[in-house]
Amino acid sequence: MLSFEPDSVSFSTGNFIDGQHCVPTERDIEVRRPSDGKVYAAIPDSSAELVSQAVENAEATRISSGWSTCSPRQRGAILNRWADLIENDAPYLGQLEALGSTRPISDVINHEIPFTAEAIRFYAECADKYSGDLLPTRQGSLGMLVPEPYGVVGAITPWNFPLSMASWKCGPALAAGNAVVLKPSELTPFSTLRMAELAVQAGLPAGVLNIVQGSGLTTGSALVKHPLVRKISFTGSTATGARIMSDAGYNGMKPVTLELGGKSPQLVFDDAGDPVEVAKRIVRGFTANGGQACVAGTRLIVQRGIAPALIDQLIALCQQFQPGNTWLASTSYSPLIDQRQGEKVQSVIHHACQQGAEIVVGGERFDHTEDGLFWQPTLLTGVSADNCAVQEEIFGPVLTVQYFDDEDEGISLAQHNIYGLCAGVHTQNLAVALRAMQALNAGTVWINRYGRSGDFIIPTGGFMGSGIGKDLGRQAFQACQRQKSVLIDF
Ligand code: NAD
Repeated sequence: MLSFEPDSVSFSTGNFIDGQHCVPTERDIEVRRPSDGKVYAAIPDSSAELVSQAVENAEATRISSGWSTCSPRQRGAILNRWADLIENDAPYLGQLEALGSTRPISDVINHEIPFTAEAIRFYAECADKYSGDLLPTRQGSLGMLVPEPYGVVGAITPWNFPLSMASWKCGPALAAGNAVVLKPSELTPFSTLRMAELAVQAGLPAGVLNIVQGSGLTTGSALVKHPLVRKISFTGSTATGARIMSDAGYNGMKPVTLELGGKSPQLVFDDAGDPVEVAKRIVRGFTANGGQACVAGTRLIVQRGIAPALIDQLIALCQQFQPGNTWLASTSYSPLIDQRQGEKVQSVIHHACQQGAEIVVGGERFDHTEDGLFWQPTLLTGVSADNCAVQEEIFGPVLTVQYFDDEDEGISLAQHNIYGLCAGVHTQNLAVALRAMQALNAGTVWINRYGRSGDFIIPTGGFMGSGIGKDLGRQAFQACQRQKSVLIDF
């Protein structure tokens, strides 16, 4: 069993600016161990002044070091070395990540760290692959579209997948020649610091990636508003995304990439196939990371014919989940991040039941406290389309069940939501699948599967309340470049 005692392992807790760890003497934010709520470290709530120091340093070094103007292949080589160092550091980095994010160590080491390294490699390859355009104009004249970095990109990440979120932000921005100032979530601040340290070891000029710690209201907001930050890349809740979009607009009209919340439907038709296999997909889709994933497929919309068999299978699978010590390789289920999240899940279930929902399985936390706050996978039936559990992002392992008779009704139930992140469509009928795919308001549609599993070439990003723009894919790389139009008469 791996274990990590914060008292016996040293790790940095301040900002990382110009390649140096610095602990300012500012008001501190306590960081709690998710398993028992004990305070194990403190981070600064970096003021606008400290944010300014990080941004100005990033802007100065991206120019003086030649990062923005060097050959893109050089940048790619450094990013590849960074990815290698991240993988080699997995035992330590994984412990830092697991400590903060509550994820089982096996999940972090086997999935998150390899995916983090691979995302960076993907962008190392993008660095020199996408050039500008020559545009035909009239004779004696030539048009060009010249891509260039924005300058400093401000990146803000959530707590649920700190390392991979950082790689999705830094990979494309750095490959395109920008500098990055990143603010991780105040709940999970440490693994990102280590990642930045490894970037400098890989040859990234010190200052090109700076990390500032702090709360959203103090540090995040100052980063968004800083005049030298030219683009914002954010992942987090829809409410915060709306505020950031407004701040970015009022402070320099900065382009934003916003990866926000979700409430994704899983549309299962009668001909979806073996209910056992379909149930496995549905359960993986809403319980991964304890339901704390933006892409969680938390609204089951099922055709009446297959419904009884499918629900029997879902109940059986939900009953197999067990909490456990997250440092054991055998534990794969994630606890909720903290007490507050537990209260949120409980409160939505409570209100959903007041509005008519019935708990078919689960509905409470496991009676097991020492290793974290594990919530039982929960199925709610009897929900109306407007039930709060159908409409709100819960960020816990809760699946609502709604029934439909025909295709139009199923799609209409799926559409009845402000979010548009992902959707699952399960049917053996290609025409039905493609019609549903075209109709759904979802940035990603998975057909007869649910989940991404490291396909970095496929961008991800939501529609409507789930955000603007894409992470991953070459699209995210190109979104880190601005396009200059040039006309030459000769
Ligand atoms: P959050 O919005 O509370 O915080 C996210 C980050 O924003 C944190 O670093 C926080 O400090 C910062 N922040 C808060 N207020 C800010 C402000 N006014 N200005 C600037 N920064 C501010 O989200 P969270 O609780 O950390 O994460 C969970 C949310 O993230 C869920 O809604 C989830 O769906 C979403 N998420 C989306 C994706 C995606 O790809 N679409 C991926 C992971 C998580």
